[in-house]
Amino acid sequence: MAKKVSSLINDLMTGDSSSSKTKTADLTAPQVNESAQVPASEGDRKPRQKTEDSPKWSFLTDMDGVLIKEQKPVPGADEFLAELRDTGAAYMVLTNNSIFTPRDLSAKLSLQGIDIPPEHIWTSALATAAFLDEQNPNGTAYVVGESGLTTAIHEAGYILTDTDPDYVVLGETRTYSFEAITKAINLVLGGAKFICTNPDNTGPSPDGILPATGSVAALIMAATGKEPYYIGKPNPMMMRSALRAISAHSESTIMVGDRMDTDIKSGLEAGMNTFLVLSGISDASSADKFPYRPTKIIDSVAAIVGKTQDPLSVLESDQISENSIR
Ligand SMILES: [Mg+2]
Repeated sequence: MAKKVSSLINDLMTGDSSSSKTKTADLTAPQVNESAQVPASEGDRKPRQKTEDSPKWSFLTDMDGVLIKEQKPVPGADEFLAELRDTGAAYMVLTNNSIFTPRDLSAKLSLQGIDIPPEHIWTSALATAAFLDEQNPNGTAYVVGESGLTTAIHEAGYILTDTDPDYVVLGETRTYSFEAITKAINLVLGGAKFICTNPDNTGPSPDGILPATGSVAALIMAATGKEPYYIGKPNPMMMRSALRAISAHSESTIMVGDRMDTDIKSGLEAGMNTFLVLSGISDASSADKFPYRPTKIIDSVAAIVGKTQDPLSVLESDQISENSIR
């Protein structure tokens, strides 16, 4: 597992698809670069990356409201993912959730009836680790978060410490400790740079809402007067690092999401075509409330099944109001 994120990050650092043949090798084939020294294991697998033989189109897709809703697969999600697998398309499933490692998340999703291999899951924790590694390799950080975040940052080559760290990194947890927040506040006041995995203020729960990372960041901000830099959606940084992880180019990638203000906005800003699905939080009139529009508005990912190699031919939802600005 230690190899996985560090090799992913290595890929992120080394770049574009055109320059690296080794990254495009069959996942089961022996590696021909220095990583050949490391025995292959489940955790060492890389996401399927775009190669010259790959289908033209790549996909980034949001998870909640697009593939999963209320802990059940969205109808058509399985077929959509199977088609991406079968055609060899490069794809990555994105989530702002930083609690779980991709492997844990993959296992959880599998219990909910959806098969997404860990190497095709890109969390805000992985994006944060990639950002830190790019900005300040082998640095130090004080991390308030759960294993998804601590593992990613540790595997990026960081030392986790509460003594004069370069960064304070805040992610999501279900057990925020007053002591840890007090420590974070004092380290930020002492000069540590303040990074937050994602800006979401709340998350859903069966009993109502849960305060999420953005709410705790607001507490630290109030106490320190320092604003964090947020990595997850809607920061297009999250999209760009995911694109690099699969060696895909924005102009031939579709971002599929259910929120205009995060998925569609950041997809647009990262230069991708964007599909808004109506299977999650948005309804047919949602797009009208924003000064930008998705490339297409579709009922759900079921509409893309059979068309992943020609996604711009997908039919839009017939729920779109005739009064919508087209
Ligand atoms: Mg969503």
